Amino acid sequence: MATNYPEWIWHNGEVMPWQNATVHVMAHALHYGSSVFEGIRSYVTPDGPAIFRLQDHLKRLFHSAKIYDMDMPFTQEQLSAACHEVIQRNGLEKAYLRPLAFRSLGGLSLSADCPTEVTVAAWEMGTYLGAEALENGIDACVSSWQRFAPNTIPAGAKAGGNYLSGQLVAREARRLGFGEGIALASTGLLSEGAGENIFLVFGKQMFTVPVSAAILNGITRDTLMKLARIDGIEVIERDMPREYLYLADEVFMCGTAAEITPIRSVDGKPVGTGKAGPVTRRMQELFFGLFDGRTADPEGWLEPV
Ligand code: PMP
Repeated sequence: MATNYPEWIWHNGEVMPWQNATVHVMAHALHYGSSVFEGIRSYVTPDGPAIFRLQDHLKRLFHSAKIYDMDMPFTQEQLSAACHEVIQRNGLEKAYLRPLAFRSLGGLSLSADCPTEVTVAAWEMGTYLGAEALENGIDACVSSWQRFAPNTIPAGAKAGGNYLSGQLVAREARRLGFGEGIALASTGLLSEGAGENIFLVFGKQMFTVPVSAAILNGITRDTLMKLARIDGIEVIERDMPREYLYLADEVFMCGTAAEITPIRSVDGKPVGTGKAGPVTRRMQELFFGLFDGRTADPEGWLEPV
């Protein structure tokens, strides 16, 4: 992605060459983190490329904007069409879509009524943490940085400013030689990865923390809970202490970018056998099966481009 830009981008209602979608250095969002965004994937399916849970992602984008009183100058239908268009115009198949809405030029007071600009970019994207990671898992650590308390910054909004927390967690992990960092909530209980939700497996049951644990209400998390239940795997949402990461039979992370990444150790302690366990493998099979047709799409999540 660093140098290999696609040709076209959608910006404020128009498809234009990638390099023309620019922003002024005094844009509010650049100074104060006042942006909201989504990360969405398209996959190759037997019926051609399809965008996964596009409408759910766009709903979350509008919810994020609502939390911050950000006027959206486009409708969900218009942004949906923009997402399809950037995939098509760039001839992409397995891609990552990034709709972004931000307070633009219009004042630097915190309450300034800045116009909202909206961009939709898309680029080819394989695995996020590496193909190796999907297969063999990653080594994770618990970060010394906690997630923000729920009465400070709402974790339920996918806002640019939230990712300062994610950067601290991810960069610390990388500096210490780990593949990813996991943050605790201000309660001291388990929250989520820098950019992923977390599942723990004890026996045949899957556990994940509730949305009140300062997490982003992940769409992959929701997908896995639904697929697991259809498959007869029990899923329990509950708060969990840090040490459960060490005691679980299996731990995995999930997110649009990370997909389903096994965690083979936490803080240097092996998780279970130190290899992806049977429930993690089953969830990978069910999830990736959505795209090659082995798993029935229970709610019409795939939107053909
Ligand atoms: N938590 C955070 C902080 C994230 O950035 C993401 C990625 N969007 C997730 C969880 C997973 O969310 P989703 O499955 O909707 O991509």
